[in-house]
Amino acid sequence: KPQYDYDVIIIGAGPSGALAASRLVQQGIRVLMVEKQHFPRFSIGESLLPQSMVYLEQANLLEAVEAAADRLGFQYKDGAAFYASGQESTFEFSKKFSQGPEYTYQVKRADFDHLLATEAERMGAEVIYGSQVTAIQFSPTPVLTLCDEEGQSRTVTAQFVLDASGFARVLPRLLDLDLPSDFPVRGAVFTHVIDNISDPSYDRNKILIETHPQDPDVWYWLIPFSDGTASVGCVAQPDFLQKFETEQNLDSSHELLKICLKQTQRFSQLLSNAEFPNKTQRITGYSANVKKLYGDHFALLGNAGEFLDPIFSSGVTIAFKSAKLASDCLVKQFNFEPVCWETEFAEPLSSGVTTFKAFVNSWYDGQLQDILQFKQAPDNIREMICSILAGYVWDDNNPFNQAPHRRLNVIGELCAS
Ligand code: FAD
Repeated sequence: KPQYDYDVIIIGAGPSGALAASRLVQQGIRVLMVEKQHFPRFSIGESLLPQSMVYLEQANLLEAVEAAADRLGFQYKDGAAFYASGQESTFEFSKKFSQGPEYTYQVKRADFDHLLATEAERMGAEVIYGSQVTAIQFSPTPVLTLCDEEGQSRTVTAQFVLDASGFARVLPRLLDLDLPSDFPVRGAVFTHVIDNISDPSYDRNKILIETHPQDPDVWYWLIPFSDGTASVGCVAQPDFLQKFETEQNLDSSHELLKICLKQTQRFSQLLSNAEFPNKTQRITGYSANVKKLYGDHFALLGNAGEFLDPIFSSGVTIAFKSAKLASDCLVKQFNFEPVCWETEFAEPLSSGVTTFKAFVNSWYDGQLQDILQFKQAPDNIREMICSILAGYVWDDNNPFNQAPHRRLNVIGELCAS
């Protein structure tokens, strides 16, 4: 009988958990993935980046995604468009600096996450749905308490635990690793609509971001799917949203989103015939950080580690990258090869996250919003920026990944002059 129930237990079956599970079982590692909910379940975060296709392919998951794309309404995505003050600026991923895929998909996460978790299971991972990890002890290897929906608890053991629990942040909470984010608290209000967009100038192959006409801190997303529906949302600091609720006496997130949308120019016009059959949801204070991304017998993946901000749709790509790096470290570890989690996991992950962070800061400073609209920028600069928008933040050849703050400041000054 093996000394441990599993080699690796993964908390959560979202994108980071499923990708890590797939990679590990393909190397003969025994994996249990414990998921609190039953799939398919709603999740926000539908716009992928082309860089994520590389991680799906390396995990042998891309074929299943491509095969299911039409059936599940995954929308082909080949760029990003930014609308502000009557101007639209478009970035085509085919015109990017870095090597790599030039397209990706916008996916309903309920179906996408279900597909990945099912593939991981088909490859050999054991998956338990409807059961949550409620406690952990290290003695010195992990002993996890699982609690099912009937309230029954049991313990399972493993040599290593990966926390892929997303915003629930199970290990940061249980092990006191939580750190506040550097970003101010923001919130999002969002739903899925039947968009009924008939405007021929609208390009369904791109995510559309619109900045609020008066308040550059507030922005909106329109993420279309291929079945005529779309994800629509507004991101703002809480006082912006609360102001409407107090002034207009709004008592539902649905009315709040509609009022927010009324303030837009391009979205108002595009969504003039939209239907809102689905529940509107609201989430606040999602940005988070941690004291450390790994420790003895554990590592944090995706949102269980750090979450920055939704503006560049980077969440799933970072989640995949963390899963790729951690599973590589684990494969070496189980092969009795030396592993340095700092230089092989935390540092390489952080190098790309640092670029996204600089871009997020520059977006809210207003500088990047000007840069994105600056169509006279030299082509090679727009291509380098396009690469970041496509998620290629780990490409060391792109100068924006070496010194993102400095580069953004230089280009920002060029735009301002
Ligand atoms: P998740 O996808 O959150 O999965 C975690 C899983 O763990 C869940 O299924 C949960 O049920 C399970 N779980 C939780 N607690 C437990 C427990 N105790 N035991 C067992 N299971 C548990 N990202 C993008 O890439 N593109 C976007 O367009 C985008 N838009 C966003 C918009 C907003 C407003 C926000 C807030 C985020 C957005 N994101 C986007 C980010 C994206 O949602 C996340 O980064 C991504 O889902 C992270 O994946 P994950 O695997 O870390 O966690």
